[in-house]
Amino acid sequence: MTDFREMTPDDFRRHGYALIDWLASYMERVGDLPVQSRLAPGEIRDMLPDHAPEDPEDFEEIAADLDRIVVPGLTNWVSPGWFAFFPAATSGPGILGELVSAGLGQQGMLWATSPVCTELENVMADWMADLLGLPARWKTTDQGGGVMQQTASDAVHTALVVAREEAGRCGAAADRCVAYTSSQAHSSVEKGARVAGYRHVRLIDVDDAYAMRIDALQEAVRKDRAAGLEPAFACSAVGTTGTTAVDPVRAVGELSRQAGMWHHVDAAYAGNAMLCPEFRHHQDGLELADSYTVNPYKWTPMTFDGSLFYVADRRPLIRTLSILPEYLRNTSSESGQVIDYRDWHVALGRRFRSLKLWFVLRYYGAAALRSRIRDSVAWARAFADRLDEDPRFELVAPVPFALVCFRHRAGNRATESLGEAVNRSGHSFLTPSRMGETAFLRVSIGQMNTREEHVERLWRLVGKEAAPLL
Ligand SMILES: *Cc1c(COP(=O)(O)O)cnc(C)c1O
Repeated sequence: MTDFREMTPDDFRRHGYALIDWLASYMERVGDLPVQSRLAPGEIRDMLPDHAPEDPEDFEEIAADLDRIVVPGLTNWVSPGWFAFFPAATSGPGILGELVSAGLGQQGMLWATSPVCTELENVMADWMADLLGLPARWKTTDQGGGVMQQTASDAVHTALVVAREEAGRCGAAADRCVAYTSSQAHSSVEKGARVAGYRHVRLIDVDDAYAMRIDALQEAVRKDRAAGLEPAFACSAVGTTGTTAVDPVRAVGELSRQAGMWHHVDAAYAGNAMLCPEFRHHQDGLELADSYTVNPYKWTPMTFDGSLFYVADRRPLIRTLSILPEYLRNTSSESGQVIDYRDWHVALGRRFRSLKLWFVLRYYGAAALRSRIRDSVAWARAFADRLDEDPRFELVAPVPFALVCFRHRAGNRATESLGEAVNRSGHSFLTPSRMGETAFLRVSIGQMNTREEHVERLWRLVGKEAAPLL
């Protein structure tokens, strides 16, 4: 028999401390690394052996490959010059929470398989509901409840399944159910609908600010009803991915009530802004929503992964997803006094995600998290003002949060070359995008270690690299 080489607690301590040191030094130097990896496709594979090792290797050797192979292949999402997509906001306490979660090896599918995984998550969801000003009814102490799903895509998929089942209870055949969302909605809505078996998905027209047109939604629902279909699900976005447009949440809610549809609100990114009361008018009408999603890793530095998914009433969700095999029967579940999160999503096994949120909320305190949001928004507005003052640029959408979308007035070619020049700089990274035929650039501000000086540096680069107007 071969010896199985244990990593003893002493070894673990030694290697663990060394790795924490290594991570700390990565954090110190990430601002000097190019944001985008400079490697070509296949280069990483070429550095790796073709087969897994037959014999043990020393941990020092394994760790040395972090610098040799991993770092050159990173897209540095945690760079202070990260202005692409949305941030994947991370932080020391979030990372340490992840580490402890892995170390404790919990599987929180049932209350009984990890009481603390369940109850801490109940409480974190409730704390966040209060911090974000969500309806009190959505708390786990009331009729609703929150759960940490892996991503917002999982959350919307779950909502679509519940909506389909609820429509089914009213006699609608699944293949007649219709899901509505705006043409600007995140692709996860359409994908979730496909996975959930919807045959009909309507992408509703938007207005000049890229928000869903309620008259167009009304008309689509009317037409579908007339054709014998069953409107089952409507998704409104508070902060679309393209331009952070805000759909008319209350009007979609009212229409959904009238039409007997499930109303899901996707606030994956902008939901974080609701830590600050001055943004909450953007989601007025939430008391008419059935479910809601916010990703604390997008702007609150919780560290990926984890999407908070709330339901106004947890019964339809549990009714839809609960299947109880014999081996999961237990007295605490049968007592009806506990939440078993396996009934709240597709997965059975589940990570102890609430730990990192708990660490982050306690380490920073809500006041500091609010001021991070306000700083990002202020820097974004200042950036937008400067664009406004320069005749070469125009904003292509309003700036309700911390995403600035702009283009070069000389057209698509000038806009695209400007984006390429910025991304070639290595220190700043933004996302080139398109709306129909119009090319534009997305600058999203809010990575945890981005400071005003980094936004300044980006502005100087944009000003320098943009072609003059002819
Ligand atoms: C990022 C985003 C999503 C998808 O988030 P995942 O957690 O990666 O699935 C969905 N909707 C909106 C509005 C987003 O910004």
